[in-house]
Amino acid sequence: MKNLTNSILALEQISAALEPTLVERELLNKDIQQYANEFIDSTESKLSYYKGDPDSSQLGISTNKKELKELLKIYTSEVVEKGINPASGGHIGYIPGGGIYTAALGDFLASVTNEYAGMYFGSPGAVTMENEVLDWIKSVFNFPKTAIGNLTSGGSIANLIAVTAARDKHQIKNELVTKSVIYLSPQIHHCLHKAIRIVGLEDVQIRLLKLDDYFRIDVDSLEEQIKKDITEGLNPFMVVASAGTTDTGAVDPLKQIGDIAQQNNLWYHIDGAYGGFFILCESKKELFKGIEKADSLVIDPHKGLFLPYGIGAVLVKDKESVFHSHHYTANYMQDAHENGQINPADVSPELTKHFRGLRMWLPLNLHGIDPFIACLNEKLLLTTYFREELKKIGFMVGPEPDLSVSYFWYPSGGDENAFNEKLMENIHNDGTVFLSSTRIDGQYVIRMAILSFRTKKITIDKTINMIEKCLADTKQIEN
Ligand SMILES: *Cc1c(COP(=O)(O)O)cnc(C)c1O
Repeated sequence: MKNLTNSILALEQISAALEPTLVERELLNKDIQQYANEFIDSTESKLSYYKGDPDSSQLGISTNKKELKELLKIYTSEVVEKGINPASGGHIGYIPGGGIYTAALGDFLASVTNEYAGMYFGSPGAVTMENEVLDWIKSVFNFPKTAIGNLTSGGSIANLIAVTAARDKHQIKNELVTKSVIYLSPQIHHCLHKAIRIVGLEDVQIRLLKLDDYFRIDVDSLEEQIKKDITEGLNPFMVVASAGTTDTGAVDPLKQIGDIAQQNNLWYHIDGAYGGFFILCESKKELFKGIEKADSLVIDPHKGLFLPYGIGAVLVKDKESVFHSHHYTANYMQDAHENGQINPADVSPELTKHFRGLRMWLPLNLHGIDPFIACLNEKLLLTTYFREELKKIGFMVGPEPDLSVSYFWYPSGGDENAFNEKLMENIHNDGTVFLSSTRIDGQYVIRMAILSFRTKKITIDKTINMIEKCLADTKQIEN
C-alpha cells in the first residue's frame, strides 16, 4: 500500500508539468501575447505568399523539451512564413478566410474551460449557446425557428450533413440509387461531389446544368431536364444551387430554382459557404430572395463572418431527415437525455467536438453586427474599385460579378493563355499579394476573391502596383 502511494506521488510530481503554475502561465502568456501582437501589427507589411517548402526535420516531435521562444521561432520560419498568409489582407486568391482577434479569444476560453458541447447534458450552457447562434443564422436567412442546424468544422462537413439528409428524406438506397437524379451546376464546389460519393450515391445520375453568361444556372434547361428525366422513368430528387460560386462568385436564381424544386418535389440544397453572408448587405438583398425556400443551406462563418478557420454551419428544415442517420442512443449515453434543446451530436457525425459556438458568439456580442455588415459592403466596393483600376492599366475583366469574386486577364496578343500563366507565376514569385487563377471555358484567367477583413483600399493600391511591375517583367521576357 505504501508502495502504491509512493508510486502515485512520484508520478504526480512528473505530471504536474501539465498544469503550469500561475507564474509559469504568466510567462507563457506574455510570450504568446507578444507574438500575436507583433504578428498582427506587422502582417500588412509582410508578404502574403511565401514560396518554398518547410523543413520537416524542424517540425517533428522531439523527445527533448524545448523553450517556448525556440518553438515560436520554428513556428515563424517553418509555418507562418511558408505558403499563403491567410491572415493577411493581401490574401485575395481562392476564398480568403478571416481570423478576427476576438474569435481567437473565444477559442482560447473554449479550450481552457473545455466545455463539452456535444450533448446538452454535458454542457447545457454551451449547447444552448450554439443553438442560439444557429437561431440567429436562421433569422438572417429567414429560415423557420423549427429548422435545425449544426456548427461544423467548415463548409465541406456542413454540405455532407445536408446531402445525407436529402438522401435519407428521399430514401435513396438499393436499386433506387442508379435511377435517381441530382441536378447541379458545373461550377458547384467540389466538396459536394465528395459528399455525394461519401454518402454512397456515387452511382446516381448527375446532371450538370447549362449556365447563362454570368455562370448562373439556366432555369429553363433545369426544368426541361427534369421533365425529360421523369418521362424516362428516372427519379429526380435533389437540386443544388450556389449562393456565390467559388470560381466566379455567381449567385444562381435562388427563387426560381426553389419554385421548380417545389413543383417537382425535389430536395432543394443551397451552398452559400462563400457568399451567404452577403445577404446582410442592403444592395444584395434582392439577389438572395428565395434562399429561404431551401430545404438545407450551408454557410461558412470562417469566410463571410471573418472568423478563423474551423467553423461552418448547416441549416435543415426537416429534423427527422437529419436524425435518421445522426441520432443515436447507446447504453453508455443513457444519462444524456435531451431537454428540449437539439444535441449537436444528434445532427452531426461528431460526438465530442470543439466548442465552436463561443468563437462566433463572443465577437458578435462584443462588436455588434454593424462592423460585420460594413466589412462585407466594403469588400463589394473594393471589388468594383479593383476592376476599375485593372481596366485603367489595360486589363480585360470578366463580367460584372454578383459578389466579390471576379477575374481578369491581359490581352497580350499571341498566346494569351501562356502570357497570363507567366504573369501569374511572376505574381506568385513576388508574393506581395496573393492571387490565384482558374480557367473559364478553356481560357486562363487570374482570379480575385476579396473577403479578408484586412483587405483595404490600400491593399488594392498595393496590388495594382505589384501587377504593373509583374506585367512589365512578363512583357520583357516575351520580347
Ligand atoms: C469554401 C467553400 C466550400 C467548402 O467549405 P470548407 O469550409 O472549405 O470546407 C464549399 N462551398 C463553397 C461555395 C465554398 O466557397
